[in-house]
Parts: sequence; C-alpha cells; structure tokens
Amino acid sequence: MSRESIYKRYELINMPQKETSADAYWFIFKDHEMLVEANHNQVDIPFTSNLKSLGISPLRTQYLGKLEGRPCFSAEVTPGTCPPEGMIFKDLRLLYDDLEEDIYLLAGRAVQIVNWDSSHQFCGKCGSPTQTMDDQTAKICPECGFTSHTRLSPAVITAIIKDDKLLMAQHAHGPENRYGLIAGFVEAGETLEEAVKRETAEEVGLEVKNIKYFGSQPWPYPNSLMIGFTAHYASGEIKVDGNEITDAQWFSKDEIPLPPSKMSIASALIEWYKKV
Ligand SMILES: [Zn+2]
Repeated sequence: MSRESIYKRYELINMPQKETSADAYWFIFKDHEMLVEANHNQVDIPFTSNLKSLGISPLRTQYLGKLEGRPCFSAEVTPGTCPPEGMIFKDLRLLYDDLEEDIYLLAGRAVQIVNWDSSHQFCGKCGSPTQTMDDQTAKICPECGFTSHTRLSPAVITAIIKDDKLLMAQHAHGPENRYGLIAGFVEAGETLEEAVKRETAEEVGLEVKNIKYFGSQPWPYPNSLMIGFTAHYASGEIKVDGNEITDAQWFSKDEIPLPPSKMSIASALIEWYKKV
C-alpha cells in the first residue's frame, strides 16, 4: 500500500489525445460494470483501433494516458448497451482477482473519470455547458470561468492497538458479523490526524495517540482515497454510537474475525498488526 507508484507500466498523461483511431486499450463502463473479454484462464480488456467493430457507440470518451506506450481510453455507454460476442460487462469489484494489478488500478481511475465527466457536463455555478481542459483533468466553464477538477473524497482508516489487541468494529450497514477497522470521511477544515481522532471518538468513544501514517489506496467506490493510519489506545471505554457502529471489541491476533477483501487497505493494516 505504501508504494511510491502503484503502477508499473502505466504513465498518466493529462494532454488529451482526441484521436481515437489508433490501437488502444479501452476501459468501457456501463454504470459500474466494465466490459471485459473473458477467455479461459484470463480476463482482458478490449484492445482495438475501432470501437465500432465491437458494436460499441460510446456516449463520451476520455483519454487516460499510456499503458506500455499504447494509448488508453475510458468510455461510457448507455444502460441498454449489449456486450459484443465473447465479452461481458462485469462489476469492477468482482474483477480484482481476474485482472492484472495495473489494469485493475487503471480501471479504478477510469471509472472515476467516466463518472466525473458524466456529472460535470454543465457548470455547477451558472449551468452553461463545460469544456474539458487541455492540460489537466479538469473542466472549465467558458461563460464564468468556474473550473472543476475530478472529485475525490478522502477517508481515514485506522488500526488501533491496545496492549496486543486490535480494535475492530461492526458497521450497521456492513455484512452481518463482519468486523472492520474504524474509518470515516475527512471533514472540511480538518487534518487527517484530526479525522482519525474524531472518527474514533464518534464511533467508539475512545481517545487515541501515536497516530502514524501507514499508506494510501485509491478506492473508486465511488470516489474515495483511503488514507491508512496506525494508532495506540490512549483512554476511554468502548462505547459504540449504536447508529453507524453496532459493536466493537479488542481482538487478539488469533481471534481476528474474517478479514475484509484482500484488495482493501484494511486487509494490509490487519496484516501489519499481525506482524507487530
Ligand atoms: Zn459557469
């Protein structure tokens, strides 16, 4: 999670390439489902110079940069679009195990760009149609000059340790009997460390200390950036809010309940705890 770059083969380029007729990788979304080619042992994304040959007529396309020197585009299609033969639309979350990591991460960037492009066609201030800027991932209003960048919602997630135990909580809206780490969105005007303290106090009534940065992870469901921390218990008794959190307990290393999906930073934090 604390890698300097998450990509090995991808280069983010902001200068839009409007020419879409070269051989290119296509990240094509129908809502949160992505078009993939399902072969016997592996899943690929479409690589083509001609989307029309696949029977795909996108509503909008966006240039993403280069993967191994080849252009990459994202595209949005209408809800009624049928997949070409041999391909399926599949929920991005369900593709984690099937796609190469670079492709999966890039798909997460792609779906956020697609959603942002779709929801920023008009100026949020004056309602005029927007234009995509040439030198950055942003839209500008030609009437009033208002600029919108891709929207990210930062959220903190914390592994809190007391003696040799890890705090895990059951979220009201999560799966039954699934325990996770304390997490929540960062508020305007707050530092990340303050968000860690506030979320911990709000959700389980505890004070924490020794807050340390662990790593971060893009979380495109729909547009979060998860920022992981470790911390130690400082004071207080567990008191859940009963609303967002229904139960919280200290778990020893051999008591830790089912880990969340291995693709999440939560699972990396739990792995870290198991090793300390
Ligand atoms: Zn405007």
